[in-house]
Amino acid sequence: MDSLLTTYITLVCVSGVFNVFLCIYAFSKKSEIPGANTFIVYTAALSIYCFGYAFGLAGDTLWQVKLWTTVEYIGMPFSAPLGLLLVLNYLGRKVSGKAAAAMFVIPAISLIMVATNDYHHLFYKSMQLREGMPAALVRIEIGEWYIVHGIYTFSCLLASVVMLLRRWNQTRKTYRLQLATLICGQLIPMTAAFLYLLGVAPGGLDPVPIVMCITSALYIWAMVSVKMLTVVPIAKETIFESMGEGVIVLDTEERLIDFNRAASIMIPTLRPSLFGNTLDEVWKRLTGSPFPVVRHSEGMLEELAWTAEGEQRCYQIRSSVVRHRNGDKAGSLFMLIDVTELKRLQRDLEHLAYYDGLTQIYNRTQFITRSREMMKECRETGLSFSVVLFDIDHFKNVNDSFGHDTGDKLIVHVVTVCKRLLTGDMLFGRYGGEEFVIALPSATLREAAGLAERLRAALEAEPLPTANGQIVVTSSFGAAQATDLVDTLESLLHAADEALYVSKRGGRNRVSVQ
Ligand code: GH3
Ligand code: MG
Ligand code: MG
Repeated sequence: MDSLLTTYITLVCVSGVFNVFLCIYAFSKKSEIPGANTFIVYTAALSIYCFGYAFGLAGDTLWQVKLWTTVEYIGMPFSAPLGLLLVLNYLGRKVSGKAAAAMFVIPAISLIMVATNDYHHLFYKSMQLREGMPAALVRIEIGEWYIVHGIYTFSCLLASVVMLLRRWNQTRKTYRLQLATLICGQLIPMTAAFLYLLGVAPGGLDPVPIVMCITSALYIWAMVSVKMLTVVPIAKETIFESMGEGVIVLDTEERLIDFNRAASIMIPTLRPSLFGNTLDEVWKRLTGSPFPVVRHSEGMLEELAWTAEGEQRCYQIRSSVVRHRNGDKAGSLFMLIDVTELKRLQRDLEHLAYYDGLTQIYNRTQFITRSREMMKECRETGLSFSVVLFDIDHFKNVNDSFGHDTGDKLIVHVVTVCKRLLTGDMLFGRYGGEEFVIALPSATLREAAGLAERLRAALEAEPLPTANGQIVVTSSFGAAQATDLVDTLESLLHAADEALYVSKRGGRNRVSVQ
């Protein structure tokens, strides 16, 4: 065996050992490496390829060469699609089980073809030992399936390289070493295979297993030093697409140029076919009117609500200017944040803070805040301002005789009856347990007393129906008007309370004024 061949076999074996090492290393770090299985099978396939080829080279008879070629093909045809899967994994592209299985159909056929070649000669038309040469240098004539296998292997390698190169610009400098290693891992064997096919490889030997020495060594270095396959960057595009916030990108002419998945869910009329249209046009299709946000201002925040698929949702819209690296404006970006739940929660909290839970009219605090403002406005505009305070008569008896639940129902009933007689400009609040207050803008004491009287009569006339009959309810009223002397809300309420007390003392179910 000549020394070139011996060196060659040694190098191929080194490649094999490197790949076995990578395979074991990945297996031992399985939990740390996302998609470790693909890498394990990939390096296992490459190991089989290398050792199969090395043993084939060392074979003495044609039978031995054929046997080891078959072993080599257990690994070799699968390595290219496995490499492609590895790259797809790295780039974060999902490959379904079916698609992955389909990628191994041609390699499986190639293996069967090689193993059964003597019966059909579709892979090698002929295979003969050369006289006086080492067995490795068998003379082969390629068959039809060899071409299919060659094209497929080459295509897988090329696809891997192209996809990795396309990712280059989007990859941060920190991760470029990883990417470069993966590119070399596919590009170097691809180039070697190409040279071999062109017949310019030295000695007529397949250079691929040799160059694998370099690529495997690179992999070992990259996995250990730059944590290749362990710390994998996520493509910006993937981040863009998986964001929960909707993103719409416009160019400097305000034309739609991109949007993410979340944006298309928020605005169902958003379609890639609308690229190039202005946002206004896009918006008109959705709502019938132009986009309402004032644009161009950096960091602008706006809240918009629209109905999509029968549901009204509220969005916070934040805009920002997109700039080229040199600082020139490249376009603008709108970020849509769904704040529907937040708004609902805010509304609920506001309601809890402002309204009485039982009667849904203002609670005491909110009544006082609002009526103080109302009183101030009335004074400033020279209008009169009055309040009416009333308390249910003998309410304790209701609780004692019919229970607390019925007492509650009676409170709600009183509010319902009164509301019918009140107008929108009046403020109605629950002042205490069964005590209520009404603020009347631009009402004189006479008018306030008139309203109180109508309320009293309505309550008396409308008893609360119960299961066994009805509960007649009456209330006592006190009314007071703001004057130069009674000029604060506190003093006004105090005056109305005194009037109410007069009604109580006077026999109840009546109106008194102060
Ligand atoms: P008066 O005619 O003098 O007003 O007699 P009254 O029995 O109504 O006496 P008072 O106003 O002092 O009693 C109010 C009672 O109302 C005391 C309390 O137990 C009851 N009460 C207060 N808030 C509620 C409530 O939310 N639900 C029920 N069921 N009862 C309440
Ligand atoms: Mg009472
Ligand atoms: Mg009371």
